[in-house]
Amino acid sequence: MIPADFDYVAPESIEDAVAALRDGGEDAKIIAGGHSLLPLMKLRLAAPTLLVDLRRIPGLSGIERSNGGYKLGAMTCHHLVAMEEGLGAAALAAATIADQQVRNRGTIGGTLAHGDPASDMPALLLAYDGTVSVTGPNGEREIAAADLFEDYLTTSIGDDEIITSVTLPALEGYGHAYQKFNRRQEDWAMAAVSASVKKASDGSCEDVRVGLTHMASVPLRATAVEEALRGGGLDANTIAHAAEQAAEGTSPPADLNATADYKRHLARVLCRRALEEAVAGA
Ligand SMILES: Cc1cc2nc3c(=O)[nH]c(=O)nc-3n(C[C@H](O)[C@H](O)[C@H](O)COP(=O)(O)OP(=O)(O)OC[C@H]3O[C@@H](n4cnc5c(N)ncnc54)[C@H](O)[C@@H]3O)c2cc1C
Repeated sequence: MIPADFDYVAPESIEDAVAALRDGGEDAKIIAGGHSLLPLMKLRLAAPTLLVDLRRIPGLSGIERSNGGYKLGAMTCHHLVAMEEGLGAAALAAATIADQQVRNRGTIGGTLAHGDPASDMPALLLAYDGTVSVTGPNGEREIAAADLFEDYLTTSIGDDEIITSVTLPALEGYGHAYQKFNRRQEDWAMAAVSASVKKASDGSCEDVRVGLTHMASVPLRATAVEEALRGGGLDANTIAHAAEQAAEGTSPPADLNATADYKRHLARVLCRRALEEAVAGA
C-alpha cells in the first residue's frame, strides 16, 4: 500500500531536527531506519504529515566504551550491536532480530522509541538497567529504562524529543544468554528471555538479570526469578525452581500463535534454558 502524502526533511544537526519537530507539530515524526514506521504508514495506521530523517546528523551512529559501559549512538543499527561481543545478552538479542537486511537498517534508538513489547531490545535495556539520552526543546535529559516504557507502543519520550544515545553497563564477568521462541526463524518473538548471571568466588549467584520479551504490553524484568537466585546456589535444581516463577506478574497477549497460558509456559521453559546457558558461560 502507498502511504498518505507527507513532507520530508533531513536536517544536519540535532538542534535543527528538534526545531523541525517543534514546527511540524504533533503530526511530525522522526524516521530512523524506517523498519517500524514505514510499514505502519503503508498500512495507513500512521499518517505523519512531516518526516524528520536523522541520517544526516553526524555522531549519532557507532558504539564506544565510556565509564565502565557502552555508549551507543541512537542511529547504531542492530547489526553493529550484534557484532559487539562485549554487549553480552544485548548483542545476542540483536543478532536474533529479523534478517540481515532489517538488522542493517533498523536502529537501537528506533526500536526503543517505538516501544513494542515484542521487540527484542526493550527488555534488554530493562534487564541491563540501561538509560537513554534524549534531546528536546528544553535541552538534554536521561531516562532510565524503568521509566521509559509506559504502555503498548507508548514511552515517556516527548513528541519533540529525540533519542541521541543509549548507555548500557558492560556487565563484565557475567555469562549471557538470549532464548527466543518463534514459529519461523527471523519472526518476532512469541516470547523471549534474556539472562545475565555473575557468579561469586564461591560459585553462588552474585547478580542475575532476567528480561522478558512479549510477555505483557511493556517489556518486563522477571524479578521473582532474580530474587529466587540472587545470593544462592546455581545448581540445576535451584535454577529450575527459580525459572518456574518466570511468568509471575506477566500478562502475555493471546494471539493467532498461542494462548496466554502457552506463552507463560514458554517463558518458564525459556527462562530455565537461558539461565542454564548463562550460568555455564559465567
Ligand atoms: C520484516 C521485519 C521483521 C522484524 N523483526 C523484528 C524482530 O524480530 N525483533 C525486533 O526487535 N524488531 C523487528 N523488526 C523491527 C526492527 O527492529 C525496527 O528496526 C525497529 O523496530 C525500529 O527501528 P527503526 O530504526 O527502523 O525505527 P523507525 O521505523 O524509523 O521508527 C520507529 C519509531 O521510533 C521513532 N524514532 C526512531 N528513532 C528515534 C529517535 N532516535 N528518537 C526518538 N524517536 C525515534 C519514530 O518516530 C517511530 O515512531 C522487524 C522489522 C521488519 C520490517
